[in-house]
Amino acid sequence: MSRPIGAARMGLLPPYLFAAIEQKIADKRAAGVDIISLGIGDPDTPTPPLIVERMRSAVLEPGTHQYPSNRGRQSFRDAIAGFYGRRFGVDLDPATEIIPALGAKEAIANLNLALLDPGDVALASDPGYPVYTNGPLLVGAEPVAMPLVPELGFQPDLAAIPADVLSRARIMYINYPNNPTGAVIEDDFFERVVAFARKNDLIVIHDNAYSEISYDGYVAPSFLATPGAKDVGIEVFSLSKTYNMTGWRSGAVVGNPEVVAAYWQLKTNVDSGMFEAVQEASVAALESDQESVREMCVIYRRRRDILVDALNAIGLGVTPPKGAIYVWARVPEGETSASFTEKVLEDAAVVISPGSAFGPSGEGFVRMSLTTPDDRLVEAAERIARLVDA
Ligand SMILES: *Cc1c(COP(=O)(O)O)cnc(C)c1O
Repeated sequence: MSRPIGAARMGLLPPYLFAAIEQKIADKRAAGVDIISLGIGDPDTPTPPLIVERMRSAVLEPGTHQYPSNRGRQSFRDAIAGFYGRRFGVDLDPATEIIPALGAKEAIANLNLALLDPGDVALASDPGYPVYTNGPLLVGAEPVAMPLVPELGFQPDLAAIPADVLSRARIMYINYPNNPTGAVIEDDFFERVVAFARKNDLIVIHDNAYSEISYDGYVAPSFLATPGAKDVGIEVFSLSKTYNMTGWRSGAVVGNPEVVAAYWQLKTNVDSGMFEAVQEASVAALESDQESVREMCVIYRRRRDILVDALNAIGLGVTPPKGAIYVWARVPEGETSASFTEKVLEDAAVVISPGSAFGPSGEGFVRMSLTTPDDRLVEAAERIARLVDA
């Protein structure tokens, strides 16, 4: 073939952040090295039995076997609405304000297609989930990093966004409890975002992947509970982290009916909806007593404390996060995100993620995931401690 394979837009995408690390891990494991991975945030404990049991029975119902509607089953939309009402005090109309998503990642990627024209700007939390920047790139739009400022509790400084960027900006991605920093919202930030979006004609997309995972008595709000939020935005909700369902691909786009309609229209041209058995299992998850979620938060909190104590003991100065499943730590003096990640992998056989992989403002930090069993996490912390002491 004389023409190179791959559309020009593919060349805009940065290399997949974990590809090189994955290769190194594979090589080391093949050589017999005992690697502990605190890299990817993928829950290590299984999906709760009541959800699996509902899946088992739903699969046996022939009514779940055909093409689903992209609008989703009534039972699924009602369950999302019920959950949002009970948990967040947010009213959602199941007919016009809820569409199932094949996970938050699919929703975020496709929302760019549904909402952005070439040349539009997408304001993206930096550091942040990589799809906030790669999604806009794939549709010919321009992602602009919105640095999360440590001194502001890892919120962006809205006043610092340049006027010429703002005039082209169409959407804004935010995410709390935050990946990768673990930051949560405890002030009027969402109110300020609503006012800012109104003033600048922006659509706010709040990635709500971690609302149920929090510690120390903190309870995360929905962005949509903010007065006026539904006029300016939507929330992307996901069952992945809350119910250990990352492999099941279940979530929802909820909120502003016009944005929800645009997403639905796009989806009717891209995929054929969510397996209805997965929708029924999701209903069981959302309508359960949430005991599994409380138990999981206890597990993550214990691991968080193990890791934070160990890192503080060696002088890394980590603040315990109140939400999400990561510890975000500054690298030691004289190191960069990449050099410290490399050193920890080479000399301690522990995989961590360089903060710079989540955007330019992540430089100087590393992310460690809490999705590793306690004994392995203790071992990883000890190995890192020995390394930094040396
Ligand atoms: C894990 C994660 C997602 C992806 O969730 P899925 O529903 O599994 O696609 C989205 N956003 C953030 C911030 C995440 O950490």
